[in-house]
Amino acid sequence: MNSDLLGHPVYRDMPTTIFEHMSALARETGAINLGQGFPDAPGPADILNVAADALLSRSNQYPPMAGLPELRTAVASHYAAHQGLALTAQEVIVTSGATEAIAATLLALVQPGDEVLLLAPLYDAYLPLIERAGGVAKVVRLTPPEWRITPAALEAAASPRTRFLLMNNPVNPTGIVLREGELALLARFCVDRDLIAICDEVWEHLTYDGVRHHPLMAQPGMRERTVKIGSAGKIFSLTGWKVGWMCAAPPIGTLLARAHQFLTFTTPPNLQWAVAKGLAKPVDWFDAMRADYQASRDRLVAGLTDAGFVLLPSQATWFVCVDLPASGIAMDDVAFCERIIHEAGVAVIPISAFYPDEPVTHLVRLCFSKADEVLDEAVARLAAFRQRAVAASGEGR
Ligand code: GLN
Repeated sequence: MNSDLLGHPVYRDMPTTIFEHMSALARETGAINLGQGFPDAPGPADILNVAADALLSRSNQYPPMAGLPELRTAVASHYAAHQGLALTAQEVIVTSGATEAIAATLLALVQPGDEVLLLAPLYDAYLPLIERAGGVAKVVRLTPPEWRITPAALEAAASPRTRFLLMNNPVNPTGIVLREGELALLARFCVDRDLIAICDEVWEHLTYDGVRHHPLMAQPGMRERTVKIGSAGKIFSLTGWKVGWMCAAPPIGTLLARAHQFLTFTTPPNLQWAVAKGLAKPVDWFDAMRADYQASRDRLVAGLTDAGFVLLPSQATWFVCVDLPASGIAMDDVAFCERIIHEAGVAVIPISAFYPDEPVTHLVRLCFSKADEVLDEAVARLAAFRQRAVAASGEGR
């Protein structure tokens, strides 16, 4: 067969995502999986019950293309209550997960040759989706420990062909919540250069230590030029549901719906009913959910710190990063991940996977949305591995 038939160049030499790869290895080896980001609890029983009841008692035929009116209204009301945004239900389009929302947005808006600014470390789906849409990714490389966005770095990456900024806030994998000055900088940058911001805000509710997420859409001049993307899977700890949404004013919102209608068209109606119910939960529920994850983060961080590991601060997401050299471990991130899955029985994610080039290679990402006993066992295994590694490298104690 003509090899040109065998796939678009974007996909031809592409490995399976690091998350799937590490989860598959964890399943094969029986390792504790602190790699791919998902909670190990069953999820909120009341929301699960609404979905189960709706499956049996309500329609299982195509819901409206843009989503059930009840869910579109619930998303708009939720953002009014929690983030002070004044969205209408018509500005919300329900998608099959946030990844579909990102794909639909890029397919709807990006024209061949358009440049899209990205901030690395970045979620691995962004780059192939941009390229498949005909866009050109321009990456602003951020570095630890602050991962700070500067005007100079933005200016250096931009050109007259720059049309979009695609960003994640709060940030996976760093656990950073963008600071007020950075949001203002990004907003001014988009307004001055007439860019559309595509904001992947799936971690918006997973913030800790009293830090709150502020949407870029709320910054001056951004209401009409922002696509805000959210995820029920993250908010309700139900990552397999793949219920997301994208919010944008017309005319952008109208275009997004056109792309969505020929991607997945609709999203399972019973899950939409349940998410609509969940979004209307009182503020206390969200506070308690955050407190639970914060306690899990604290438990993992305390355990690893006691064992001699050095971690970067994380104020959001389900992730925290370990600094390998600072922890006395003389391995790069990929070598460490490969060794610990086999030698310690723990799967984690190398940060280099989040850079298209010039990767940061001394950090690994651990997922803490797990039961206490799982975290404790992972800490014990990693502590033992670290002792062996430190002893072997001659810096032993
Ligand atoms: N968002 C998840 C993570 O960062 C991964 C999702 C996926 O595996 N596609 O771990």
